[in-house]
Amino acid sequence: MIAAVLPTYARIDLEFERGEGCWLVTTDGRRFLDFTAGIAVNVLGHAHPYLVDALTQQARKLWHTSNLFRIVGGERLAARLSAVTFADTMFFTNSGAEALECAIKMARKYQFASGNPEKNRIITFQGAFHGRTLATIAAGGNAKYLEGFEPALPGFDQVPFGDIDAVKAAITPYTGAILLEPVQGEGGVRVPPDGFLEALRALCDEKGLLLVLDEVQCGVGRTGKLFAHEWAGIRPDIMAVAKGIGGGFPMGACLATEAAAKGMTLGTHGSTYGGNPLAMAVGNAVLDLVLADGFFDHVNAMSARLKDKLGAVVARHPRVLAEVRGKGLLLGLKAQVPAGDLVTALRAEGLLAPAAADNVVRLLPPLVVSADEVDLAAEKIEAACVRLEEASKPLPAKGAAE
Ligand SMILES: *Cc1c(COP(=O)(O)O)cnc(C)c1O
Repeated sequence: MIAAVLPTYARIDLEFERGEGCWLVTTDGRRFLDFTAGIAVNVLGHAHPYLVDALTQQARKLWHTSNLFRIVGGERLAARLSAVTFADTMFFTNSGAEALECAIKMARKYQFASGNPEKNRIITFQGAFHGRTLATIAAGGNAKYLEGFEPALPGFDQVPFGDIDAVKAAITPYTGAILLEPVQGEGGVRVPPDGFLEALRALCDEKGLLLVLDEVQCGVGRTGKLFAHEWAGIRPDIMAVAKGIGGGFPMGACLATEAAAKGMTLGTHGSTYGGNPLAMAVGNAVLDLVLADGFFDHVNAMSARLKDKLGAVVARHPRVLAEVRGKGLLLGLKAQVPAGDLVTALRAEGLLAPAAADNVVRLLPPLVVSADEVDLAAEKIEAACVRLEEASKPLPAKGAAE
């Protein structure tokens, strides 16, 4: 009989009762160090008192009114995000995929409104992940996610990630935009070569294309700056954000320059829930803490510490681990054993971490992770390596001396 919850996930059989900072506690009292963080969502850890207060105070006043009325918390959050980013305007959503849907619609509409309705194609990248809606599975181009859901939404041309010459070759008179994650998350924590984003920005300027970034996973402090593209010193035209922006409350946003948003006029887009008072109260509270003095310094210090420790673990366990990669606290361990086996071994040591493509295990701790927790995670990772090495030792030959 089919499960009452549609069985599209192979769920791990752990039942959590509560979270405290970087820790999750099961109903039977076991404690796990949480380097999954709801897949890069819980940037401030679990049950942060400041976020709990923001949510409960708002919940006592007003939950939802729809976008037919002004939402002051949203006006405030948009103004604050505009002040610290490239953006002049933004649309609030409930998820990452919806933020991408808005971004894709906006890019097409920009070219339409510019008198180039034929420029409705978007260049995307192999290994990308943009969500699970019909448009975002087409944009992501992962055959596994598209199979059986055809016809795929047309309008996407995929090229290898990090290959500027392939991008140039893929541009046609029908190209209107380039869409990418500055660091690929689900694709295996892939950082493009230095200069790639700068080259894409220059190419977009030269050809009249929009640069659309998907910072759903790598944004909101995850790489050690508010947004990952800041490392390259460039500004996108449109950017999709979600995951960390709500700290665990479902929300997202599509940010844009005034020019890029010019086609998104009255009535061209909407959402019943997007940016509702509960989400906006939490979003403002998350931003208060993420923009506080020293927050990014902490992320970068913990990243350096974790990378350093992991580098040593990789060197000691070359049969299990190939390399550490990534930026900030969006880190990946490229495994020599099946990544799923490593995830299981880590869990047996009390560390939760999600797998990604390219045989990588991601390490995505809350950004408030402490030095002690980083050290503990490195110890658990080493213990998991030892566990896997023991398990793969050949059995002694039959009849061998005891
Ligand atoms: C998770 C993710 C999405 C999709 O977000 P949902 O909230 O699951 O719809 C899109 N892009 C990237 C880079 C992501 O990591």
